[in-house]
Amino acid sequence: MGLIVQKYGGTSVGDVERIKNVAKKVAQYKAQGHGLVVVLSAMSGKTDELIKLAYQITDEPSERELDMLISTGERITIPLLAMALQSLGLKAVSLTGRQSGIFTDSMYTKARITKIAKENVQKYLHDDYIVVVAGFQGVDESSNVTTLGRGGSDTTAVALAVALSADKCEIYTDVDGVYTTDPNVVPQARRIERISYEEMLEMASLGAKVLQTRSVEFAAKYRMPVVVKSTFKDGPGTWVVEEEADMEKVAVSSVVYDKNQAKLTVVGVPDKPGIAAKIFNAIARAEINVDMIIQNVSVTALTDLSLTVPRAEAGKAMKLLESAANEIEAKSVMIDEEIGKVSIVGVGMRSHTGVAAKFFSLMADANINIEMISTSEIKVSCVIRKGDVDRAVRILHAGFHLGGGEPRVEQAH
Ligand code: ADP
Ligand code: ASP
Ligand code: MG
Repeated sequence: MGLIVQKYGGTSVGDVERIKNVAKKVAQYKAQGHGLVVVLSAMSGKTDELIKLAYQITDEPSERELDMLISTGERITIPLLAMALQSLGLKAVSLTGRQSGIFTDSMYTKARITKIAKENVQKYLHDDYIVVVAGFQGVDESSNVTTLGRGGSDTTAVALAVALSADKCEIYTDVDGVYTTDPNVVPQARRIERISYEEMLEMASLGAKVLQTRSVEFAAKYRMPVVVKSTFKDGPGTWVVEEEADMEKVAVSSVVYDKNQAKLTVVGVPDKPGIAAKIFNAIARAEINVDMIIQNVSVTALTDLSLTVPRAEAGKAMKLLESAANEIEAKSVMIDEEIGKVSIVGVGMRSHTGVAAKFFSLMADANINIEMISTSEIKVSCVIRKGDVDRAVRILHAGFHLGGGEPRVEQAH
């Protein structure tokens, strides 16, 4: 029998009863003879609660200390599961990120895994232990504790699966697979049986939080099969795999939204060469992920430049932009936190035309104003008012016939 890496998310380990339930599930897999590494998140709400504590102390917590703090959520769940497994008569050991050999760079709060020194985990596996690993955390080369960004336990799991050459990585969560859109927003959403790495990567990076983007990057790069399943009910789940021939038949396979973005606008920017480079270099050095950019053509000698960033980084981006604005003699910087993003994704867009036009018409018919647009070969994204997001998602989902009982083959030509 081979090796499986399983990951259980926050809701799945949300209280002691649920942890005992996870222990029972893990015991069943163990009984089938598999080697098992089990990656856990913190109890649901715990990471948010810890972040709030930090902000009760200071408006600007040091990111190093923040990581020390928020990594503790996972320190609670892992020994509890190990104890629950031991109570079932199984050999189990809990390991922190450091004890699991997970090394990262020093980009606190969104560190990247650079290396996995797998010997310790392998030693326990060899001795037939179930190895319970704290997700979301690692250490940098100077032994500072780092975290991998929100949802980072997914990445811990896939990266460990790759490092240990596991047969597959199973992500257990509170939904029974990846859906055509968030099933908590659109009840008609349908579970997707198989999705390509590329589509899943777009979905994750556009805001579908069911898998963290970097976990999909790892899976795609090393061709690790990942399956997303429910902790609470049995079923086939969704397989994330290499693209298959019939996946292109559908132009649009999912609708994604993101309400955690902010728009920053540098007002009164002198319209001359080199200015955009100055503005974006400042942001890039801080490794802030800029999503959409719009610069208007200027009628006068001045123009405005808008960009979107994750809301959690908007404050930091604002400061950097203010000092860049000063340097380039722009007038001011404005922030808008009331935006949201809706996107459609599908590898079939490569071969179907008219998809973007249909998106815009659906928004126009619903009187939803589009503020920014960005496209790639397999996605169309628009920034709209945050208050319109849920309605836009429902309209797009119905408009592209993604709901149950409707034809899935998109006719737009
Ligand atoms: P966990 O704590 O298990 O990691 P998350 O909350 O991070 O779980 O991710 C699961 C959630 O992702 C679901 O409850 C659902 O609301 C949301 N979600 C967003 N888009 C989708 C989608 N297309 N398919 C499935 N779930 C989605
Ligand atoms: N506990 C972390 C978070 O809430 C990591 C995770 O759950 O994957 O983001
Ligand atoms: Mg998650």
